[in-house]
Amino acid sequence: MNTQFKAARAENYRVSDRSAADIRYLVIHFTANDGDTAKNNADYFAREAPGVSAHFFVDEKEIWQSVREKDIAWHCGTRGMYFHPYCRNANSLGIELCSRKQGEKYYFAPETVKNARNFVRYLMKKYDIPLANVVRHYDVTHKNCPAPFVEDAAAWQSFKAGLIQLTKEKNMTEKQVKQLIAQAKTVYDTAESVPEWGRGTVDKLLSGDFLRGTDGKLALSEEMLRVLVVLDRAGAFDR
Ligand SMILES: [Zn+2]
Repeated sequence: MNTQFKAARAENYRVSDRSAADIRYLVIHFTANDGDTAKNNADYFAREAPGVSAHFFVDEKEIWQSVREKDIAWHCGTRGMYFHPYCRNANSLGIELCSRKQGEKYYFAPETVKNARNFVRYLMKKYDIPLANVVRHYDVTHKNCPAPFVEDAAAWQSFKAGLIQLTKEKNMTEKQVKQLIAQAKTVYDTAESVPEWGRGTVDKLLSGDFLRGTDGKLALSEEMLRVLVVLDRAGAFDR
């Protein structure tokens, strides 16, 4: 996907020469506008100096870059409390999705979500970033951003499931599955504690020897379970 570049004003970000290995997180935002374009945003940050920024803006048709990846955009910082232990401006890229509004409710056009998914997949590959490190602004500071993915958790889960690069035959490698599981936070520790809707998937992974937890515990988070179930339904674990 072609990305066009228009530099933000210097007041909006911090010049840095961080290495690719320093970029560990991708943070998803929404513009909280209605009908804006990626180019509108790049133009705005090139012209104005609000003292905030993002690396990329995505709309239905285009992606515009506003801050170079090795520079640090100001997109998820706070003077308040951080709810994510590690993700900060200094180790992340900020990606804004242009939003639309119906009544009081923000939403994303399907084409914007599709473009963002493809672009985030590309960035995950470029920087070797695991699925668990693709987060919402909300996950870092609890800001309602991106609203369409905070107010509708299922939409966020489905976006994340779409980030897994399924191979042509759709099967994930054992290493990919184990990586996914290793990223989970502890919630469900035994197969019996897994809710009905996830039981079949967990049984399949256990019998396939993918899921083995430490000290006999599964250590499977709710979020990860949802992602695994979506992948299971897509046939990712079929042998
Ligand atoms: Zn945000």
